[in-house]
Amino acid sequence: MKVTYSLQNTQLSHNILKGSEIEDTVTEILSDNEFKINDLVFLLKTHEIQRLGLIGNKIREDLYGKKVSFINNIILNYTNVCVTYCKFCAFYRPPGHKESYTVSKEEILNRIVFAKTNYDIKQVLFQGGHNPKLNTEYFEDVFNSIRTKCPDVAIHGLSASEIDMISRVDKSSPREVLSRLKHAGLESLPGAGAEILVDEVKEIISPLKISSQTWLDIMETAHDLGIKSSATMMYGTVESIEQRARHIIKIAELQKKTKGFMAFIPWSFEPNNTEINESGIVQFPMGGFELLKMISVSRIVFKGLIDHLQSSWLTNGIGMAQLAIYHGSDDFGGTLIGEEVVSATGARSTELLAQNIINAIKAMGYIPVERRNNYEVIKHF
Ligand code: SF4
Repeated sequence: MKVTYSLQNTQLSHNILKGSEIEDTVTEILSDNEFKINDLVFLLKTHEIQRLGLIGNKIREDLYGKKVSFINNIILNYTNVCVTYCKFCAFYRPPGHKESYTVSKEEILNRIVFAKTNYDIKQVLFQGGHNPKLNTEYFEDVFNSIRTKCPDVAIHGLSASEIDMISRVDKSSPREVLSRLKHAGLESLPGAGAEILVDEVKEIISPLKISSQTWLDIMETAHDLGIKSSATMMYGTVESIEQRARHIIKIAELQKKTKGFMAFIPWSFEPNNTEINESGIVQFPMGGFELLKMISVSRIVFKGLIDHLQSSWLTNGIGMAQLAIYHGSDDFGGTLIGEEVVSATGARSTELLAQNIINAIKAMGYIPVERRNNYEVIKHF
């Protein structure tokens, strides 16, 4: 669904902003749909989150009314073997480690069929480490089998950095890998691997990972091949506000070119059990204030550009996700049955049943709607 947008009831937004330090900047962005890096830095630094939230919520309501979407899905973390050793990651194990695993095709199919039968999932989110033993053929075989067994379950899988790894294993190109996997049933790419799209940050937290430009290039290639994707932002490690702003600008610039991002998902870094936590670089998660500001600012600057904004319950909990809806997000994301990556940090709850999400949305006076991978609404509750 393509959304074009101009803020309804400009008098209301004028009243919300009147006399505040953000009045001029937000009014300007809302009037011409353009923003510069200084505007973004200013908004990311302000403490005016209530006003930002009212505007973010107003934009969401103009677009979606009382509807808040979610998807029944399973996360399949198919391997934890990884040779990229990101310092923010508690999930990976090096090749040969006694806790390392790669899930067999039979087990993958069993899990998906079980989740389809018991939870009527509409999506499998397929993500794992950079395993040097897995080539395109492995994924083609798995995806073809999923498509045959469960044609109604969309495959949303493989981050740009996994695609890069597979192409290196195969001595092929990301375009070749993506074309073959699209043919095998890959529907869309998650936005993982972006973290903060500024190489000075990547050099500290994930020096062996693809560069910011490679992430953008792979996303552009995917979009060019008709594979849509999400865009994410993992904030709360070592980045500055300016670097967060540069990340958002890069996503916006690519989106203007390709229109391939379906959703933006800002999520906060969970430090437990990670190298950057143990070395004392980052001790605590960012907390709710930053989440709500990030949601509102994202809704304001991505209006008319990226249709959907997820509430990021996974690292912030269901209560903060409810508040995120009130600050501009329209999608609760997935039930995430089987999640293991964030679970490795010991985060509170890393999977929900649809009924938990439905109850949380209804408790706010909103209407829960179930969606497909492409955000098509299939059921109202
Ligand atoms: S974040 Fe991904 S690429 Fe980085 S170490 Fe963890 S599994 Fe590997």
